[in-house]
Amino acid sequence: MKILVTGGAGYIGSHTCVELLESQHDVVVVDNFSNSSPKAVERVEALTNKKITCYEVDICDVELAQVFEEHQFDAVIHFAGLKAVGESTKEPLSYYQHNVQGSLNLLRMMKKHGVKTLIFSSSATVYGQAKIVPIDETSQLQPQSPYGQTKLMVEQMCKDLSAAQDDFTAVMLRYFNPVGAHQSGMIGENPTGIPNNLLPFISQVAVGTHPELRVFGNDYNTVDGTGVRDYIHVVDLAQGHVKALEALHQSNQFTTLNLGSGKGYSVLEVVDAFSKLNDVKVPTIFVPRRQGDVEICYAACDKANQLLDWETKLSLSDMVIDTWRWQTNNPQGY
Ligand code: NAD
Ligand code: UDP
Repeated sequence: MKILVTGGAGYIGSHTCVELLESQHDVVVVDNFSNSSPKAVERVEALTNKKITCYEVDICDVELAQVFEEHQFDAVIHFAGLKAVGESTKEPLSYYQHNVQGSLNLLRMMKKHGVKTLIFSSSATVYGQAKIVPIDETSQLQPQSPYGQTKLMVEQMCKDLSAAQDDFTAVMLRYFNPVGAHQSGMIGENPTGIPNNLLPFISQVAVGTHPELRVFGNDYNTVDGTGVRDYIHVVDLAQGHVKALEALHQSNQFTTLNLGSGKGYSVLEVVDAFSKLNDVKVPTIFVPRRQGDVEICYAACDKANQLLDWETKLSLSDMVIDTWRWQTNNPQGY
């Protein structure tokens, strides 16, 4: 199939491009490079020995039309957007613009050009402070931030479009905590500024950029008092996209699917695995809980397992080893 990948130069997008190309699909990338580098696309090409047609285009702009005029796509995988929860509370309008208006523009283009399959990067953040774990797709939707609201709004637009247009397929993939990097060490997460997420921060502590990891809270009702999350290796996640495309393309339905590992690890379990398996020191200090954090969050992934014939293959060990390989091979990122 010929697939348009928006945000294909980004962290999850670049890994998904590798898996798409390795599954013999053709890939066209649209990215404005606001949070990525064209080098990521070049590295995907080098890794797979295949070509990608890449456009530096913002999905909110009229130039997107030209991309649809030049190609007839079988499906769109839509990653492009802004993703920092904290920033979204300070700059909400940018989030509504890039995430909602950009998606609306994309859906209009798809409709105009008869492209009938969309795979969308949603997020576990649509569940907000879920009280029951594991979280399944029927859990209450109550996003706690403008970022989370934008994800839910796009899901709603897709649901409404799918109700209005019988042959429209919309698959909402709700990711839990994507981490790790490609085993080659050639592509990985490239955060700008000080990372908010656990794994990139641990990596930066291990290379000495920060003196220690501040562990947010050790008084949770968990195995060791620290917060528990469902970490999923980005390569497993990327493969989930290809499986979703291949299994549900032409399903003519709106579907929501959790993509996680279904297992929860505490902050200290992740730190311990990282330092032991990579033989590096990761000093930690305990600080009070981070506002808005939940105690335990992990996914029920039975729906994705069954519908896509997909399950995660990579372990916490793979996640921490691959993160460190990427970090040490690319100390300055791309
Ligand atoms: P990323 O920032 O690495 O990738 C997003 C890409 O989109 C970047 O290359 C960026 O330059 C591009 N982009 C942003 N706005 C754009 C616009 N208006 N037009 C064109 N390109 C634009 O992020 P990621 O971690 O790869 O996340 C991909 C998607 O998955 C996002 O939609 C994000 O919200 C979602 N998601 C990510 C996580 C996570 O923890 N990484 C979790 C859940 C959901
Ligand atoms: N965390 C931490 N220190 C950090 C970053 C994260 O203790 O510098 C903890 C955080 O409180 C949570 C877990 O690590 O329990 C995962 O946090 P992340 O921001 O990566 O994901 P999210 O909380 O959005 O699921």
